[in-house]
Amino acid sequence: MTPPTGPLGPPAHAPGGEPPDGLRRFARIWCRAVYADTATSMTRAEFEELMTGLARLLADALHGRPFDPSPGRAVGEALVAAHCTVPEALPRVLGVVDAYLPLYCSDPAELPADEARIRSTRLQHAIAAGYAAALQERTRAEQEALSRAALSAQQEIARALHESETRFRAVFKDAALGIALADMSGRVLDVNDALARMFGGSEHHVRSRNILEWTHPEDPPEIWRMQRELMRGEREHFQVEKSYGRSDGTALWTNLTVSLLRAANGEPRYMLAMVEDVSERRLLNLRLRYQATHDALTDLPNRSLFFERLEQALSRASDTARIGLCYLDLDGFKAVNDSLGHAVGDQLLIAVAERLHGCASGPGQMLARIGGDEFVALVLDPPSPGTVTELAERALYALSTPVDVGGRELMVRASIGVVEGPARHLSSAEMLRSADITMYRAKAEGGNRYAVADPDSDARAISRHHLTHHLPAALKGAEFFIEYQPLVKMEDGSLEGAEALVRWSHPRHGVLGPDRFIPLAEHTGLIVPLGRWVLQEAVRQACEWQVRGIGGPRPLKVNVNLSPRQLHHPELVEDTISVLEEAGLPPSSLCLEVTETAMIRADENELRPLRQLAELGVGIALDDFGTGYSNLANLRRLPATTLKLDRSFTLGLQRAPADPVDLKIVEGIVSLAHTLELSVTVEGVETSTQADRLRELGCDSAQGWFYARPGPPERLPEAV
Ligand code: C2E
Ligand code: CA
Ligand code: CA
Repeated sequence: MTPPTGPLGPPAHAPGGEPPDGLRRFARIWCRAVYADTATSMTRAEFEELMTGLARLLADALHGRPFDPSPGRAVGEALVAAHCTVPEALPRVLGVVDAYLPLYCSDPAELPADEARIRSTRLQHAIAAGYAAALQERTRAEQEALSRAALSAQQEIARALHESETRFRAVFKDAALGIALADMSGRVLDVNDALARMFGGSEHHVRSRNILEWTHPEDPPEIWRMQRELMRGEREHFQVEKSYGRSDGTALWTNLTVSLLRAANGEPRYMLAMVEDVSERRLLNLRLRYQATHDALTDLPNRSLFFERLEQALSRASDTARIGLCYLDLDGFKAVNDSLGHAVGDQLLIAVAERLHGCASGPGQMLARIGGDEFVALVLDPPSPGTVTELAERALYALSTPVDVGGRELMVRASIGVVEGPARHLSSAEMLRSADITMYRAKAEGGNRYAVADPDSDARAISRHHLTHHLPAALKGAEFFIEYQPLVKMEDGSLEGAEALVRWSHPRHGVLGPDRFIPLAEHTGLIVPLGRWVLQEAVRQACEWQVRGIGGPRPLKVNVNLSPRQLHHPELVEDTISVLEEAGLPPSSLCLEVTETAMIRADENELRPLRQLAELGVGIALDDFGTGYSNLANLRRLPATTLKLDRSFTLGLQRAPADPVDLKIVEGIVSLAHTLELSVTVEGVETSTQADRLRELGCDSAQGWFYARPGPPERLPEAV
């Protein structure tokens, strides 16, 4: 390009020189017109710089001598290179050149305005031509790149396909997993070596059959449901444990996964089965399960297998209608173990297991060893109740000949509890408990025999067990309450006090009398907290009566029963005193009733607490007197203040005429008691005749239905 000369002040093209103002302005307008539409990554400033350069080219060309429009082409090409390629870009560029190039970039002194306009137009043509040519070139280049890319992509796909195909082939052929490919009708298209090997080596055997024929009697039904769903295209895959019959008759256990393969358009095309041989694992599992469910010593089913079977039979789903159990426990096995050693004991158990096994190996029968020397025979659906007792008889007979253990002849005896009944009603634990209770009955009757469960004695034992179990919660949950039975002065029939009688309001069994649970509470020791609660509550109640002035001027007393275990409790005295003090009841208003039997058995140490309480003024009554056959002379050493004559004595006085012997006895006791300065209370007075006679005999007070039955504390004021 020839350097322009002329009127543009400092030469517009001076390399590195500052562009003149006009040129700058033109470039800025140009930039504003096209920058927003370019796809360039240049910043606006950079773009403006570029435009300034192009503007300088155009300005120089405008003044060129001779005029040469070709720099216009270069400008067009440069615009395409700068990504000014949106459809509106070229018209805008030409518009700006047309309007502003002659205005800002020409010197009228050098170039007449008309000439400038003509040159500008020619430059525009050149720009447009360069632009179009560059655009065309670029499109062609892009197309070329695209098709080159497409071509190489195609080559890539083919290579990948081939690779995945070989990979698939390799996997298919060399896999340890058995693989089979079938079409949607189930026809086998291909199987790999592993699958053929699993089935015994013959590929033909595997290929020749439709997969729908690969059934096995142990197939769970859902296999074939899922298979059909898959074949209808409703399921993509499923996985099951399935066995197959091999041609040699053995079973092949597999973990089978079947997947649906679809074509590109989504149509179900193939089924792919992957088969893992799990026969070994299954065998191992079976072996482990056998070990877990069998007794290592005798090889008999163990306790857990026995319960599993029993529970199965008792479950709702089972169609077992009746169940029989023989619960067998060896008599005196501990002695054998202790005197002859465990090795001999073990040998004996093995021999016993063998003999018993022979007795309970019929259909629906199972013999298990469920504890040291405890065996149980389970009979499902015994044809008759007799079947189970016959089994027990057979078992006893089988054990009746001596067992030879290491050259020693040992006698074996056993006790058996037999239970037989409908499967619906009992739980497995209840059934075994019933059998256990019954077995103990057989033992208690001398052993070497069987006993048959009887619902009544069982029910008693079971409910005893149940109540014992629930006592602690009942005490916590405040299920106990107290009824009071009036004690009446015989002299005038006035109310003297009341005996506190505890009851249990059981959530399932209703109100239970003390006879049902006091012995259990006594047995478990729970009587101590229960007795303390009764004492507290009765003392509080007596206080309330006294405060309310019930029973007239004399303060009402309360009688509380003490059981033998409480008698021996070290804190009896302290507890009683603190209960009285807390409530503010005078000791003389409390009478503790202790049965004659308990009191007679107590030695001096055990009597000391009672004596201390008596010294404090607490009344001590000898309850149920006359049932303990005590030596009357003994009465003197007891710390008692009152005799409570048992109901059995007053019964004879109900009759008319009264039994003369009873009359004499009662008369004697009353007079002896009075000599010892004991007052006499009679229990169980049910009729007025009785009441009259007892009064005549000198009894001091009475208690019984004739006066009032035990009732809630609010009823006491109206009782007499
Ligand atoms: P118990 O001390 O001999 O109590 C008298 C029992 O005879 C009460 O029975 C009472 O309801 C009953 N009875 C009262 N009058 C008559 C009558 O005219 N005819 C007949 N046939 N029976 C009558 P309950 O309430 O069943 O108490 C039974 C036993 O339970 C009591 O005999 C007592 O030994 C014991 N007991 C009651 N409450 C407690 C307590 O809080 N602690 C302890 N350790 N034992 C208690
Ligand atoms: Ca009593
Ligand atoms: Ca009594």
